[in-house]
Amino acid sequence: MDKNTKILIPEISGDWTERLRSGSTNIWNHALHGRPHRNGLPEVRLDPPEIGLYAELIDGAWYWVSGCAKCNESGERWSYSVCDKHNVCRLCGTHRSKLTKTPWGHPDGFTCAPCKSSEDATAKTEALAKFAESEYDEHDFCGLSECKCPHCATVIHIEAEDCRNQNMECVTCGGLFGLEIEYEPSFTTTVIGERVTA
Ligand SMILES: [Zn+2]
Ligand SMILES: [Zn+2]
Ligand SMILES: [Zn+2]
Repeated sequence: MDKNTKILIPEISGDWTERLRSGSTNIWNHALHGRPHRNGLPEVRLDPPEIGLYAELIDGAWYWVSGCAKCNESGERWSYSVCDKHNVCRLCGTHRSKLTKTPWGHPDGFTCAPCKSSEDATAKTEALAKFAESEYDEHDFCGLSECKCPHCATVIHIEAEDCRNQNMECVTCGGLFGLEIEYEPSFTTTVIGERVTA
């Protein structure tokens, strides 16, 4: 796809500015729950003539333009529109239509299941080799400011709402371990009754 693609959409008025995107579909004057849009204009839904295009209002008229980060060389991460040619595994180039298993999302597109497995295996081997060199002992896993796997020393991000004592499985090495959260006491004081003054 040419990054300079610019195809006029004659059926959409340049006065229509209320557009949203749902997958590759562009929707003008979205009628939420079947009720007409608050601007009173009719809802119109259009799919681009080619995958990877989306509608953009340019100088008062709507055009189909390329949204593919690779075609546009924009470096955009988590790109929303991908053209057919670039809808491939970022590592092995397998087209999405040829996949037999659900792929893994990636900022630069997706990683197919076999590539993800081999990436994971490499990460595990590297982490365990590094661990063996580092001569850790159990004290290296006590009272830390982050959750670190005691098998391979991978730091595992814990969301605040998941901060509780629990059994974990390391995302890198698959090792099982217990996580214990310790809280430092903190002190809050408030005056009772009348404040004592000089
Ligand atoms: Zn592309
Ligand atoms: Zn792949
Ligand atoms: Zn681990």
